[in-house]
Amino acid sequence: MTKVTLIPGDGIGKEICAAMMVVVQATGVLIDWEITSAGIETFEKTGTLVPQEVFDSIERNKIAIKGPLETPIGKGHSSINVMLRKKYDLYACIRPVKSIANISPRFPNVDLVIFRENTEDLYMGVEEIISGDEAHSIKIITRKASVKIAQAAYEFAVKENRKKVSIVTKANIMKATDGLFLDACRSVAALYPQIKTDEILIDNMCMQLVIDPTSTDIILTQNLYGDILSDLCAGLVGGVGFVPGANIGTDIALFEAVHGVANDIAGQGIANPTAMILTAAMMLKHLGYAQEALNIENAVETVFQDPANYTRDLKGPLDTQAITKKIISALKP
Ligand code: ATP
Repeated sequence: MTKVTLIPGDGIGKEICAAMMVVVQATGVLIDWEITSAGIETFEKTGTLVPQEVFDSIERNKIAIKGPLETPIGKGHSSINVMLRKKYDLYACIRPVKSIANISPRFPNVDLVIFRENTEDLYMGVEEIISGDEAHSIKIITRKASVKIAQAAYEFAVKENRKKVSIVTKANIMKATDGLFLDACRSVAALYPQIKTDEILIDNMCMQLVIDPTSTDIILTQNLYGDILSDLCAGLVGGVGFVPGANIGTDIALFEAVHGVANDIAGQGIANPTAMILTAAMMLKHLGYAQEALNIENAVETVFQDPANYTRDLKGPLDTQAITKKIISALKP
């Protein structure tokens, strides 16, 4: 039985992780969940945001899945999510964005994947307050990390029979940092002549995505642009409740949905667990259970074909438990 570290996390985390676990169980895959706790609730109980046993569990199992984690302001880290990505060098943040049924009728055929560099950029938190009226933030980009994310994107393109990689930067303005990222990506692109490469500025990318997202295939970009584009793309396909994600490193993989803690709806049993369930499907595929992963994706597609099954974020009637039951009953035996 595969052992997986599970961190339910804060906000809607417990609700969506409970839903995710029963769906995985219903596929027939036996996972031995090692449930650990981290985040703001853990901090309030233990005084530690991420207890040592969480690190131990991740390092032992090498595979983890988590709900969203909230970091209290001024508690050592700017974000524990960012800290975990850096600690385990989870350099590739992969977010597939795909239209589901007809929930977003303006954009019915979106099928793109974001490859976001996950360890550097303005997320390194190198900030300085110069005075009450001036603050600096340093953008750090290295060739090494840029090449690694580019390699991940192009390798994925080959493996998944994708046609095009769009390198997204603002290299016309940030000539040193974005220029270096672009140069590193170009050097990797040259090794994959069978994959088309586009170079596009972040502002133009935003516009193109809203005009016609079907002309985008793989987005290869830096940390901050990737974060913003993730939410933009999520908006195209029904919102953050539908977009899964993975953070992949050399040894360790940590799966998490795109959305945050959603404190505004936490504890009410109304969160949409679909992103978390699709995140588990990504994890199952990573573990070699491709058929079971596809079974989950197909079940989600089937269920959302009927507006009577819409979740609250789509202004539909179903709460977390009800949509989970629907997805389970749509699974192929
Ligand atoms: P963070 O900084 O952690 O990303 P945030 O508040 O900026 O947090 P989210 O937590 O992703 O962003 O929430 C954005 C909006 O989307 C909120 O209105 C939230 O209720 C909604 N939302 C997020 N996830 C879900 C979900 N799974 N189901 C329903 N609504 C969700």
